[in-house]
Amino acid sequence: MHAMMLNALHQPLDYIELVDRHPGPGQVRVAIAACGVCRTDLHVVDGELPHPQVPIIPGHEIIGRVDALGDGVRALHIGQRVGIPWLGHTCGTCPYCRAGHENLCDHPLFTGYTRDGGFATATIVDAAYAFPLGDAGSDASLAPLLCAGLIGWRSLKIAGEGKKLGLYGFGAAAHIVAQIARWQGRTVYAFTRPGDAATQAFARSLGAVWAGGSDEMPPDALDAAIIFATAGELVPAALRALRKGGRVVCAGIHMSDIPAFPYGLLWEERQILSVANLTRQDGLEFLRLVPEIGIVTRTTTYRLTEANQALADLRAGRFEGAAVLIP
Ligand SMILES: [Zn+2]
Ligand SMILES: [Zn+2]
Repeated sequence: MHAMMLNALHQPLDYIELVDRHPGPGQVRVAIAACGVCRTDLHVVDGELPHPQVPIIPGHEIIGRVDALGDGVRALHIGQRVGIPWLGHTCGTCPYCRAGHENLCDHPLFTGYTRDGGFATATIVDAAYAFPLGDAGSDASLAPLLCAGLIGWRSLKIAGEGKKLGLYGFGAAAHIVAQIARWQGRTVYAFTRPGDAATQAFARSLGAVWAGGSDEMPPDALDAAIIFATAGELVPAALRALRKGGRVVCAGIHMSDIPAFPYGLLWEERQILSVANLTRQDGLEFLRLVPEIGIVTRTTTYRLTEANQALADLRAGRFEGAAVLIP
């Protein structure tokens, strides 16, 4: 198998050849057809997450087909198309797992961060954490759903039932969330980098009733805002745009420091929450709804060996929607 390996933090990934591995008990080997590139992969490369591990193969939005079964695997078969998300393994015994909050597990493994991921031609995964997929949709179009879509879905649930929804940072996740939110009958307000007319037009094309800079106030007070961007100063900005009792949901795994702000912005029962990881239940629930919602992802595809270019383009915001590697 071939892979793009992170051998040292802050360095480009290296194209390497590895010996083919065989799945252990409860595992399957997946021949990878597509792997999305997520902002979290940039955080992995930049060493911005706690306890970074190298060498590691990044990538946690994997679509592929099972090509080898380990002992005891019955739920998947050879040739089955599967999606592999960020949550790669949980302990099943800690208080969080036992309470149904496996996204907060004390001893988890995360695909492309603490276990090898999908910037490769093949990977070995725990069968119980792979989502079986049908044949509808291309591999590239489905890949971004595995993190941008899933984390977006969980963020939307945590944002509550409010109709007026603000999305700060209109990239891979927001372009999917906007479509779900409209399907749910919500009104979407999109916030981009000030002056980013192209992304604002992209947001309007996906049904946002208003799109503007993150330094602007929306025309209506928001019931909730989800922040996908990594800039901490968006937290007070989003609080300022909320109605009383509204919620700000921080959906990213990493954010710069949140600047001090007057208590008056939080007062009147406004809330700030964060979203961490996903549960398998989130995944099953979301992937079941995808055909019904009719989500259309905008993707820019790259060859596996172009992973460094894809990461650079993501960092610079050079495309709308999501980047996907095709091995
Ligand atoms: Zn656990
Ligand atoms: Zn991700």
